[in-house]
Amino acid sequence: MMVATSTMESLLCSCLCVLVLLGCLISSTESKYIKYNTSSNIVPGKLNVHLVAHTHDDVGWLKTVDQYYVGSNNSIQGACVQNVLDSLVPALLADKNRRFIYVEQAFFQRWWREQSEAVQNIVKQLVNSGQLEFINGGMVMHDEATTHYIDMIDQTTLGHHFIKEEFGKTPRIGWQIDPFGHSAVQAYLLSAQVGFDSLFFARIDYQDRAKRKDEKSLEVVWQASKSLGSSQQIFSGAFPKNYEPPANFYYEVNDDSPIVQDDVNLFDYNVPERVNEFVAAAISQANITRTNHIMWTMGTDFKYQYAHTWFRQLDKFIHYVNQDGRVHALYSTPSIYTDAKHAANEAWPIKTEDYFPYADVENGYWTGYFTSRPAIKGYVRFSSGYYLAARQLEYFKGKSGLGPKTDSLADALAIAQHHDAVSGTEKQHVANDYAKRLSIGYTEAEKVVAASLSYLTDAPKTGRQIKFQQCPLLNISYCPASETDFSNGKDLVVVVYNPLGWKREDVIRIPVVSEYVVVRDSSGKQIQSQLLPILDTFIGLRKYYTAAYLGVSSTVKPKYWLAFSATVPPLGFSTYYVSKAKQAATISDTYTPYKSRNQKDTIEVGPGNLKLIYSEKEAKLTEYINSKSKVKESIDQAYKYYSSYGDDGTQTSQPSGAYIFRPNGSSVPIKSDRKSPLTVFRGPIVHEVHQKISSWIYQVVLNFTKISLIQVGPIPTDDGVGKEIATEITTSVASSKTFYTDSNGRDFIERIRDYRKDWKLQVNQPVAGNYYPINLGIYLKDKSKELSILVDRSVGGSSIKDGQLELMVHRRLLVDDSRGVGEPLNETVCIHDKCAGLTVLGKYYFKIDPVGDGARWRRSFGQEIYSPFLLAFTESEGNWGDSHVTTFSGINPSYSLPDNIAVITLQDLGDGKVLLRLAHLYEVGEDKYLSAKATVELKKVFHNKQVIKISEMSLSANQERAEMERKRLAWKVKGSTQEPHISRGGPVDPQKLVVELAPMEIRTFIISFKH
Ligand SMILES: [Zn+2]
Repeated sequence: MMVATSTMESLLCSCLCVLVLLGCLISSTESKYIKYNTSSNIVPGKLNVHLVAHTHDDVGWLKTVDQYYVGSNNSIQGACVQNVLDSLVPALLADKNRRFIYVEQAFFQRWWREQSEAVQNIVKQLVNSGQLEFINGGMVMHDEATTHYIDMIDQTTLGHHFIKEEFGKTPRIGWQIDPFGHSAVQAYLLSAQVGFDSLFFARIDYQDRAKRKDEKSLEVVWQASKSLGSSQQIFSGAFPKNYEPPANFYYEVNDDSPIVQDDVNLFDYNVPERVNEFVAAAISQANITRTNHIMWTMGTDFKYQYAHTWFRQLDKFIHYVNQDGRVHALYSTPSIYTDAKHAANEAWPIKTEDYFPYADVENGYWTGYFTSRPAIKGYVRFSSGYYLAARQLEYFKGKSGLGPKTDSLADALAIAQHHDAVSGTEKQHVANDYAKRLSIGYTEAEKVVAASLSYLTDAPKTGRQIKFQQCPLLNISYCPASETDFSNGKDLVVVVYNPLGWKREDVIRIPVVSEYVVVRDSSGKQIQSQLLPILDTFIGLRKYYTAAYLGVSSTVKPKYWLAFSATVPPLGFSTYYVSKAKQAATISDTYTPYKSRNQKDTIEVGPGNLKLIYSEKEAKLTEYINSKSKVKESIDQAYKYYSSYGDDGTQTSQPSGAYIFRPNGSSVPIKSDRKSPLTVFRGPIVHEVHQKISSWIYQVVLNFTKISLIQVGPIPTDDGVGKEIATEITTSVASSKTFYTDSNGRDFIERIRDYRKDWKLQVNQPVAGNYYPINLGIYLKDKSKELSILVDRSVGGSSIKDGQLELMVHRRLLVDDSRGVGEPLNETVCIHDKCAGLTVLGKYYFKIDPVGDGARWRRSFGQEIYSPFLLAFTESEGNWGDSHVTTFSGINPSYSLPDNIAVITLQDLGDGKVLLRLAHLYEVGEDKYLSAKATVELKKVFHNKQVIKISEMSLSANQERAEMERKRLAWKVKGSTQEPHISRGGPVDPQKLVVELAPMEIRTFIISFKH
């Protein structure tokens, strides 16, 4: 109350004071209305300063996406996107020259749904007049390091679809202003192939930026694909500093930049000073920019919450700067800017490959986030593969208006691609929110899958719903469906779905409670199976995590993994039955060397051509032998950690954190515990080598499928030191500093240790500065061999020595790295209020091939990692096969897609239409045979349907490809433009319906069927 009274008094006082003052002034001259000339024309021959009013609205970071939207939890960050969009409409209506761009569709769609028809109509007019322009247009501004290209395409498609449906517009500009480094796939695929005319971003290495400023090469023509070259190049601009206005030009309500005070009747009139400052800043930027067009990004994170404060100042700047006449200021957008750049007819420097890794200062390498939050990264990748399969099954059944859909998983996955989501750079409560959304989406998609399988297996089409269960927690050996003793006399029916376009065989492992089990195939024939003990370490993990996340304390304790081999047709399923047996199934032989009397020097493991040789004494892998490919290579596989640089108390302290990887000195080996060396399990299906590396690292090497399953955590930090855990494989391959990492799971890019192609690198961080993002794999080679590692999620990796590859698999840190998140990356899992450091369970896969043969494995097997078998379980009393479909293929049963093609989208759009995306998996020259053009016969893919129309679309399916290519701007480049012939698939004949794909091509179609 006291406060209110005194405020009132002071208000009264100031009103009176102003009145007195005004009274004096009125007698001389009066303040009056000024009409600002805000014309947005370009003036030739002058330096044009393009003022781009924008807001950068993170779809979750310090607050959750919903909190940012409604403006709650403001003690963390005063941010409310609703305010931005609400205040924008009247601000734009106030002057038709004002312009604004909006980017994040996840927010815009929330807002749009809440508007009246009247407001929606006004906004449509603003969009049509160009005052409001959607750019980028995906649901989020996706990360570029830790995202998979299929997820990037899906989230962009969702956003672009909405913009097309509601506004009939196709975004023209890529706007990746905040992601921490920029990928080749973003440039040639997610920009050029969605029809963008340019791509803008802010974060590139500080050394690179300095050189580009000197050479006026911040703006380039980016040819990011070796295979597609200039056909998919894009005009790209890195901003001179960041995505904010020049210093002193910030105009949010509480910002302290000097406003333009142009009323001569009031004190502090400052138009000349402000105009001078504007002109000086413009000229300084012009000095590092080609052509007489520069862009000012007028806004930053969550700005324009009261849009008028910005526009009022921008109106004045345009008016007075243009009156002054030295430079020309205008309301602009990145589209107008791009057109002006294009019209200048300049030849631009060429940029190839990518902008990774990113460092903003000497010791600030943003390579930690490649691994940050490995569990979320794993969950996103798992959900992504599941979503692709679920949409296929949704299509095979036919999408119904009612009932569960895959849409909420699509939404959750889209939001998870944001550059503070899958990147691992959000606060903990926000990470939890992303996981919750994925879980809700998964649960609904699971129902879609169950309903589709019920429909597809129901042979007489009784319409009866078969209850299918799935086991998303199979990774922690939790699968209630299979944990039965069969005492009810029922069979366990396992339907195995294969989302790939080719037939495939893989080993399935499910937990069982008894050894008295038998496995039969679709035809009812008994097949070979093998039991592997589930060891205490995994039982402990299962117990802790089911209690923490499900609140379940299961009394059932599975004893074995039941392993059997499944063969499944393309885009189809096979059925397997597990039932009670009188005799025990084959239990694996166990060999524990230290318990054996006559110790051997070496142990050979592996049932097939591939043998791994272990040293008994040292309890470690020493040799890799493939009798088929004649590869014999000495190999060492180990774990180590980097002590994280902490807070050294200095002003310039740069600790390791969610974004930054800064090791304190060289790595420390994590020694295998000599008391418990390796244990080998052998059987007819798999051989496994178990190793407890330390009390918190456990590893299982599966020789048969070349897997290394690892469990890392809780990482001990009781010594007060954060740790970043890496696994490494060392061979004698003479890789001469060179290795290769993928771009978003697609093209491989050559990396050279301590070297950058674009500038002479000053090496400050010999480890962190050589880390790159990995989504598919990493490899190195010499004249005879190549060593490849593939991953099951996004991780950071490098080759720190010749012949060696390493992956950072987990990080636990105690200090924040001062890049905004404001929390140490210290993930824990709690039961009630008892918490332990997060344990991460994951897989990686390694293989050594004769040089030239590795690509086949990396590409085909890589696709199998992305799209694992989908398992669904039910019980059956009688003979299931008598009354159900037991094998199914969604395509012509005699057909299979070529080995180099994957179906990356098969989605029912309703109304008898599907969205189909086909991807060639190989680059030019990558494989002797598979880098060739390939064809897909759509008549066989859609064998039971009649195609009445096929339209080839842009990548995000918002316009016809021909129309997109007709509109796209062509750019001139500096220097030699000679390049090898670029191969592209030809047009699709609507009668023959054969799609041709050249290396690295992705082709998108909307196909209509006869009802
Ligand atoms: Zn951001």
